[in-house]
Amino acid sequence: MTDICIIGGGAAGMTAAICAKRENPAREVLILEKKNQLGKKILATGNGKCNLSNTSCEGSLKVLDFFESIGVLTRTDSAGRIYPYTEEARAVQSALVSQIQLLGIRVDTCAEVICVEKQRDGFRISLANRELYAKKVLIACGGKAGPANGSTGDGFRFARAMGHKVEKLIPVLTAVEVKEDTERMDGIRAKAAVSLFFHKRKVFTEAGEVQFTRNGISGICVFNLSRYLLIPKGSSLANGFDDYRIEVDFFPEFEIDDLEKLLIKRQGDGFDGERLLQFLVRGPIANRIIELSKGDMKATVKLLKAFPLTPSGVRGWDFAQVTKGGVCMDEVDDQTCQSRLTDGLFFAGEVLDYDGPCGGYNLQHAWETGMRAGREMAK
Ligand SMILES: Cc1cc2nc3c(=O)[nH]c(=O)nc-3n(C[C@H](O)[C@H](O)[C@H](O)COP(=O)(O)OP(=O)(O)OC[C@H]3O[C@@H](n4cnc5c(N)ncnc54)[C@H](O)[C@@H]3O)c2cc1C
Repeated sequence: MTDICIIGGGAAGMTAAICAKRENPAREVLILEKKNQLGKKILATGNGKCNLSNTSCEGSLKVLDFFESIGVLTRTDSAGRIYPYTEEARAVQSALVSQIQLLGIRVDTCAEVICVEKQRDGFRISLANRELYAKKVLIACGGKAGPANGSTGDGFRFARAMGHKVEKLIPVLTAVEVKEDTERMDGIRAKAAVSLFFHKRKVFTEAGEVQFTRNGISGICVFNLSRYLLIPKGSSLANGFDDYRIEVDFFPEFEIDDLEKLLIKRQGDGFDGERLLQFLVRGPIANRIIELSKGDMKATVKLLKAFPLTPSGVRGWDFAQVTKGGVCMDEVDDQTCQSRLTDGLFFAGEVLDYDGPCGGYNLQHAWETGMRAGREMAK
């Protein structure tokens, strides 16, 4: 019988273990991690730089204090994104692992939990070849996004088995697939604004770098858009995106009339026909717009300001960064992260029903909920 058992040694689980042991060194803390090392996913975050928080998160200072206490200095870019000073995700993962070793926290790697059951005075935790007992359990198994790093949705199964409601799980922060043929634009990047419409109502817009792919679009602003592309209740994957439309504005700084005037002036200056869009947008985009507008000026301007795309889906769990949905927050105390249904049962990180945009929000949530759960469990 261990005091505290943490299932999942990712961002949330490692933070929880450290905070629990610091809060009460007498408590025995055990981390069970199914992969062969702790914090594998952290290494892949922020393109290997780990965007660990954002200045616009309410709790970012607490997180920065925590990282300072484990030896990680940070730096912030002009958009408020916070990274380790060396811009190496490995620094974050190593600092957490070193602190875990320093505090004498027990770690079992290659230890996949199969099942968690409530007993009279604690929990029974079953692995393939053994059983463990713990007074308190933290489920920090992550979501379903990026399963190569260990998060395959086990936490949702454990939560459901203990009577918790799990909100619908959807892969988000991922590329969007479209019905139109984008093959000839594959690899082209454009500074633009993307907007998402549902039943003609604009539900999302963001400027950034749009990357065309063989079958759709990608890039941070598209990842953020993917959080709003939800299959309506009663629809299926086959028809669920029919009421959505995406528009790409290649000239977000221009009003439509000013853009038209600019093009008319260019025509007068001899940039006519196929040369009209030369040096304004990349070649493959220009070719597609000229093809679609058939040379009509009004249509050309409209396509430059609102290039239409019809979403057909999003790239799945293997490519998504985050899970939308998860353990319903109505059944979890958000200050302590303890289940409202079962004493001694805690949840932290992506297993909970939270998802944020790109920019450090999702890791911030993992650290913060890990801290809260860890401290409370040690009491
Ligand atoms: C490619 C990529 C880049 C990202 N970049 C960023 C970024 O820059 N900034 C940001 O804020 N967010 C980023 N995210 C999202 C962020 O990484 C996650 O939201 C965060 O890691 C969630 O932390 P977690 O501890 O809840 O889950 P995870 O980090 O997924 O950890 C869960 C752990 O539980 C283990 N586990 C699962 N099931 C079991 C089981 N049955 N038994 C034992 N162990 C188990 C897993 O192996 C894993 O180690 C990125 C995600 C991806 C995929």
